[in-house]
Amino acid sequence: MFIILVETQLAENLGAVARVMANFKQSHLRLVSPKVSVDDPKAVAMAVGAYRILENAVIFDSLQDATADCCTVIGTTANPRDVIKHYKTPRTFAENKASLPGPIGLVFGPERTGLTTDQIAFCNSTLQIPVDPDFSSLNLSHAVGIILYELYQNQTNAQPFWQHGETAAATTQDVDVFLTYLEEKLDQTHFWRTDAKKPLMRRNLFGLFKRQTFFQQDLRTLRGMIEALVK
Ligand code: SAH
Repeated sequence: MFIILVETQLAENLGAVARVMANFKQSHLRLVSPKVSVDDPKAVAMAVGAYRILENAVIFDSLQDATADCCTVIGTTANPRDVIKHYKTPRTFAENKASLPGPIGLVFGPERTGLTTDQIAFCNSTLQIPVDPDFSSLNLSHAVGIILYELYQNQTNAQPFWQHGETAAATTQDVDVFLTYLEEKLDQTHFWRTDAKKPLMRRNLFGLFKRQTFFQQDLRTLRGMIEALVK
């Protein structure tokens, strides 16, 4: 896939685009008549470790030249233009990318004006990132980042995970053993005040613990804490 930036005006944006491309494993940057140079110190500073992408950016005189070897060209715009087009969202693009013939050219417009209606008409289809209609224009590099984020998540199918080191998750039985211990200590210290109040208080208190995710280490810490308090 090629990320194609048309007439980019701000060096910072060139650098920020290179950086976010590296974050999401994209490396082919094409620039159509950029207004700033890839070795502008502001671009280099914003690219951080992704300077290689800027260095290898290929420069073209027209959108036609920059997309000549692409089989699918997708234009991005904050506001739909007055021409019949199918507008994808980043998510539907990510979901359908495999059915689009590649190489794909993903085209971004200049900061001030965006892509012209003719440039949008030239693209095979278009993509609009859903944002507040009253404030729909994203920073160029943010727009690139949002789209590449969706593509990357779709490709890697990343899942949320626990970082818990050596300790294992507590089983229901582990938690129940701890709660029995807790109840014993609360009985000993007359926490419930009256026998009549105990069932409801116990249910609420145990419910509080049941809503947590415990690891073995957490239960040992809690036990140690209660032990120390009771002493
Ligand atoms: N006023 C311009 C905004 C330019 S922002 C316009 O109407 O498009 C610079 C570039 O960032 C845009 O050309 C587009 O490529 C991208 N961009 C900004 N906001 C976007 C959005 N909501 N959806 C898709 N692309 C967006």
